[in-house]
Amino acid sequence: MRTTREEKTLAEITVEDLMIPAEKVAHVQTNNPLEHALLVLTGSGYFAVPVLDNENKLAGSISKTVILDQILGIEGYEIEKLSHLQVADVMEQDIDQIEKDKLFIDGLKALIDTPFICVTEGDGKFVGILTRRAILKAVQREYYQHNFGS
Ligand code: AMP
Repeated sequence: MRTTREEKTLAEITVEDLMIPAEKVAHVQTNNPLEHALLVLTGSGYFAVPVLDNENKLAGSISKTVILDQILGIEGYEIEKLSHLQVADVMEQDIDQIEKDKLFIDGLKALIDTPFICVTEGDGKFVGILTRRAILKAVQREYYQHNFGS
């Protein structure tokens, strides 16, 4: 039986095999001020990051676009809103998620319209993210193994 990710075929690989684990994912908490979220987003260079609640369950995601949109007033950006508003006030709550034991093809389908998807287990505990990059690397590996046997 093939057990390591390198040994498995695409049909056997699970989302858990390919995900970036939670401890390596830049994220923010629902009760963080928007200022903190903007710092995390600009510091990491990511467009959007997951939002977790105080039990480390997935609560949503937040992007630079949403933050900038929220602090835009009639006469320009109202920077003071960054400390008055919390992540929970503006985050996107209705986000897709996938369970860690789903198969590669489920992950691929989920990423057709989005660059990453949050991975959960059990009753919504956040365990990582699956990115398009990870899916493409797995496809590339299988292509070379299939065509050149390496
Ligand atoms: P990539 O496929 O690596 O370009 O990642 C696609 C998107 O996934 C990024 O724009 C981020 O929104 C998110 N992402 C990737 N890696 C991380 C990470 N380590 N922490 C938080 N978000 C990430």
